[in-house]
Amino acid sequence: MNNMNKRETQLILNELGITPNKKLGQNFLIDKTIVKKIILESQISGDEVILEIGPGLGALTEELLKFSKKVYAYEIDYKLFQYLKEKFSQIENIELLNEDILKANIPPTNVIVSNIPYTITGPIFEKVFYKEKPPRGILVIENSIAERIFVQNKYKNFSRITVSFNAFMVPVKKYNISRFKFFPAPRIDLSLIIVKPRENINPFLLSDKNKSFFLRFIAGIMPYKNKNIVNAIYLFLKIKKVINFPKPEILQYLKKNNINNEKVTKFKVDELVQLSKLIFELIHETLPI
Ligand code: SAH
Repeated sequence: MNNMNKRETQLILNELGITPNKKLGQNFLIDKTIVKKIILESQISGDEVILEIGPGLGALTEELLKFSKKVYAYEIDYKLFQYLKEKFSQIENIELLNEDILKANIPPTNVIVSNIPYTITGPIFEKVFYKEKPPRGILVIENSIAERIFVQNKYKNFSRITVSFNAFMVPVKKYNISRFKFFPAPRIDLSLIIVKPRENINPFLLSDKNKSFFLRFIAGIMPYKNKNIVNAIYLFLKIKKVINFPKPEILQYLKKNNINNEKVTKFKVDELVQLSKLIFELIHETLPI
């Protein structure tokens, strides 16, 4: 029953009058074995509440409903939402929401299982993972982003998302998935990733104000990852118009805090978190709040 193959998926989309929308990252799973793999890897127990982002035609949702207490499924596309309402009209443990996940007030869940819209991976990560007590995640995402969150592959992939993600989460496993397991096949390669929350998130990151500074700081220095840290910080502060600090002063401040002026890529994730705290403090010592 409900073996979501390519032909069937095309047929349903035709009937619904839907042309897959690239901007919404509409690439539907057409292979049941991938769905099974996702369910297996998610290790859901029957008393868990799950968040699904972008259920689409419900290929994954259908299985999630069998194994969990409840599924919150956020689908932005009204036609798909209507289709799902109908499809799951007899099912009690689903709550379908026709909302943009990025704007939604999501109820607390401790697991997210989704083949997410690839177009908004970064903002989704920020919304669901970059916070105190994040959920664990079993997600299909773009392979190039998956490679960047697994820091083990150092330095080529060491980037903004590496640092932000690893400040809150631990990447556990990654499997490559062929793009032909989706309709339409996306241009990019995909990966299934299993991630879990860190137990030791730096307490500095637990206030919204500090967290948003940290994310800005990382976004601001990583474009200069091949420069020394003092240069990168100087350029971030100047270009983002935070404050104009002379380089020697930044150098001296770092020295005072026992930080060497090395290349940005030499720093570990946790060192960069700590550094964002120091720079935050430096700015607030200098600027009246
Ligand atoms: N999970 C389904 C569909 C994946 S395609 C499957 O595996 O087959 C991505 C889905 O996310 C689409 O249904 C798209 O309409 C939905 N989507 C895109 N942007 C969204 C947003 N901001 N909020 C909620 N859903 C979104």
